[in-house]
Amino acid sequence: MPLDVLALTKDLVAIDSVSARSNGPVADRLEAEFRERGFEVERLEYDDPAGVRKVNLVARKGQGTGGVAFLSHIDTVPGTGWDRDPWSPTVEGDRLIGLGACDMKGPLAATLVAADAIDAGRLKAPILVVAAADEEVTMQGARQVAAESKLFRETAPRYGVVAEPTTLIPVYAHKGGASVQVIAEGVAAHTSLDRGISANFLIAPFLAEMAELAERLKSDPSYRNPMFDPPTLGFNMTLNDGDCKPNVTAARTVANMFMRPMPNDRTADVVAEITERAERRGFKVTSRIGAPFHTSPDSEIVNAALAVTGAERAQVVPYGTEAGIYQHHLEVVILGPGDIGQAHTNGEWIELAQLHEAVNVYTRLIERLCI
Ligand SMILES: [Zn+2]
Repeated sequence: MPLDVLALTKDLVAIDSVSARSNGPVADRLEAEFRERGFEVERLEYDDPAGVRKVNLVARKGQGTGGVAFLSHIDTVPGTGWDRDPWSPTVEGDRLIGLGACDMKGPLAATLVAADAIDAGRLKAPILVVAAADEEVTMQGARQVAAESKLFRETAPRYGVVAEPTTLIPVYAHKGGASVQVIAEGVAAHTSLDRGISANFLIAPFLAEMAELAERLKSDPSYRNPMFDPPTLGFNMTLNDGDCKPNVTAARTVANMFMRPMPNDRTADVVAEITERAERRGFKVTSRIGAPFHTSPDSEIVNAALAVTGAERAQVVPYGTEAGIYQHHLEVVILGPGDIGQAHTNGEWIELAQLHEAVNVYTRLIERLCI
């Protein structure tokens, strides 16, 4: 029996897979579906930093190498603030409402349905369907798939489709996310004794430097990329001294800097400069750069995505996805049903028409790239 995209989406939404909890149950449900449909399945597991077991699935249909990989995640943001049960998927009018319906169990279901519907005997190149853990928090799932999956490595897919919601308009670039944490340590004491060392006073000169840096990042064109709107890194800083009371010296002050790297930009320079300035003052520094994503708008995968959707041109978006990880292994486009404006909202929904159209779009893409 052919798979029904709405029924499968509802099944997946009904299984809680908030990032903080194990995604084992939803992975089990998907793995059973893949196996029943004749896909070859690889299951990869790891324990997240909180010790919670996480599962990634890589499923293959067809033999040989190359072809297309449909790349999705199976975790969701927390279902807090909902005025209904987030895990009771409901169709109302032209929408399916439920946590993850749009981001991205609906899109994932559409990739599986399209891959399932193709006659395996017609495939000249294979199809991979990937369901990864922890996209909403650390992207560790996608990293594990890219680094450790045997099926992914053996198949060496040529093209990748990250199925995040784009209202089925191809996306060829987005910003990344980079963070630097700086910690100043002082000595806490009651101010009546005048024996403390305030971490706030220790870090203050460094903060003045960060304020200057923020101005420079806005005004110096060498830190911009005109491909984006806004063309800047969006440099931000937050401070935490543990809500220290005015009659106590702060023992520890943490400054968190965050920016949004763009392709071919100077984020690495900025992180190096902040690190150097902080270390010179004896502060502890940790940093992480989440890569931006960029495929040439003239690439084969973007052109194929335009052809199968009928969209006029591919877009650039401000939010991040796992494309930043997968782009090092294959030629990626982001293309999925539903509106990103619906992701991470209370009462998240996806338009039914988008969900059904996604199956058609992915089917046409498979026919173009694998047959
Ligand atoms: Zn997502």
